[in-house]
Amino acid sequence: MTHRTLELAERRGGLPLEEAACVLCGDAPKSLLVDDPPFKVWACGRCGMGFTSPRVRADRLADIYDLGYFSSESAGDFGYASYSEDAEGYFRTFERKADLIARHLPSGRVLEVGCAAGFFLKVLERRGYDVHGVEVSGTILAHARDVLKLPHLFHGTLDAYPGEPGSFDAVMLWDVVEHLADPVAVLKQARSLLKPGGWLFLQTQDVSSMTRKVLGAKWTHFKQLEHVWHFSPSTIRELLGRAGFETVEVRKRGAGKDISVGFIIDRMKRFSGVLHAVARLFSPWSRKFVYVNPWDELVVAARRKEA
Ligand SMILES: [Zn+2]
Repeated sequence: MTHRTLELAERRGGLPLEEAACVLCGDAPKSLLVDDPPFKVWACGRCGMGFTSPRVRADRLADIYDLGYFSSESAGDFGYASYSEDAEGYFRTFERKADLIARHLPSGRVLEVGCAAGFFLKVLERRGYDVHGVEVSGTILAHARDVLKLPHLFHGTLDAYPGEPGSFDAVMLWDVVEHLADPVAVLKQARSLLKPGGWLFLQTQDVSSMTRKVLGAKWTHFKQLEHVWHFSPSTIRELLGRAGFETVEVRKRGAGKDISVGFIIDRMKRFSGVLHAVARLFSPWSRKFVYVNPWDELVVAARRKEA
């Protein structure tokens, strides 16, 4: 993914890079986790935060999501076909996530930041929530609008979203915070949209997990182009605190995804030719979905803290 997207970017005039430092500590000692030219991933020596430096320059980070990130290089249609094929997996994954949310907030007016193709909002809509979405990629948002027929969608970044302050019961960011140049600023924007005591739900990957330590640089969440931060339970709590939230729950149970056997077979290429060859024996079942939780992702529930 990284290299294909980087090639697309280069053909379109290149993506400028910049140096970055730990979002929590600023300039602190650091140790190298991954060397993947032109990118490097570091661990902050003070707090353990993982961060990519150099990374794609902050003002261009949002651009990569319409560069073939969600779809093939040319045809937006490819994305539709692919989403329809994988819809069952997305719906299963998000039903599980909706169960986690319902424990804290069984109904209400909710906003998903980075709503992508709209599967999660569709699940919540069916459960009776009043759903709203923000998405930076127009290619993928078209699926939410045209196929899933979701009504309240905004194409752009959260800072441009015209939502009324203090009007939402919850804001959700699934696999988004690790992509943001300035996650504290975006979480503060999310906070301002929430009613007092409103909920923030997010999911992100855990750089302190055993899975990451075992896999090293081959960890599937090391996607240097897109993932500029790698949190842990302690650093995500700290980040949320700085944005005005109190963390209520950090959990790994239920944080997995329902993925197709075909996707798993393809993913094995990343690890070894032998594994890939063995995995290909399961090709007849490639359209089956299985729940996979490598225990390296965090689902976090937090509440707006009043000053
Ligand atoms: Zn740090």
